[in-house]
Amino acid sequence: MTQIFPLSEGTFTIGHDKIFRPFNQTNDELNDRPTGSLLVEVQPFVIVNDKDIILLDTGLGFNNPDGVAHLPDNLKKHNIHPEDVTKILLSHLHKDHAGGIDINLFPNATFYIYQNEMDFAIQTGYPSYYVEELLPLKTCNRVNWLNGENGTIDGYIHYEHTNGHCPQHIVFKIESETGIIFYGGDEAPQYKQMKMKYVAKYDFDGKKAMQLREEWALEGAREGWQFLFYHDVKTPIAKML
Ligand SMILES: [Zn+2]
Repeated sequence: MTQIFPLSEGTFTIGHDKIFRPFNQTNDELNDRPTGSLLVEVQPFVIVNDKDIILLDTGLGFNNPDGVAHLPDNLKKHNIHPEDVTKILLSHLHKDHAGGIDINLFPNATFYIYQNEMDFAIQTGYPSYYVEELLPLKTCNRVNWLNGENGTIDGYIHYEHTNGHCPQHIVFKIESETGIIFYGGDEAPQYKQMKMKYVAKYDFDGKKAMQLREEWALEGAREGWQFLFYHDVKTPIAKML
């Protein structure tokens, strides 16, 4: 049986400086934030099936208020130790998706990363990417570099190159006994964006991303996909009706 657990890291505010700051919805005032700030929820996922324990993106790499890193702490809530993780799939390497990436924390995991995204991240750098945190991956023999417009991992995890949110993004379709689990990363970050026509200013090609979401919403509704939303703590997992 396949189980899916969202690993919420909470809500953050980001301003023009692109720095993520924790935002406490009960205490912090929305209006105290600099104008133009975005409120963003962050939430990796872990999928457990008969073959693998799979992480989908690795979060911000921040600590919770007790000073413990979010990702291992959130895994522990589901009785998963970092050394149990077998696969880590990265949709792209923006710092809010690859922040907790640590090859030593996950000694038994294979990392699946789009080769072109790694090259792009190193060229582009800060503030979208934390290059120093990514560099150890370049020489790690547990990285499986993904190439081409699409492909398949272990016969049941399919990836596709997309270039809406950023030029070298990939999305994943994971087969399960109840159908496709679709993880669109930042191409399909929130449930509400699947329901309405929406061009996001922060996307590389917002129109393209919008078209992709429309196609996936239709296909997913027809085929009963389960969608996982990284930036949507309220609706982490949903089907399209
Ligand atoms: Zn992103």
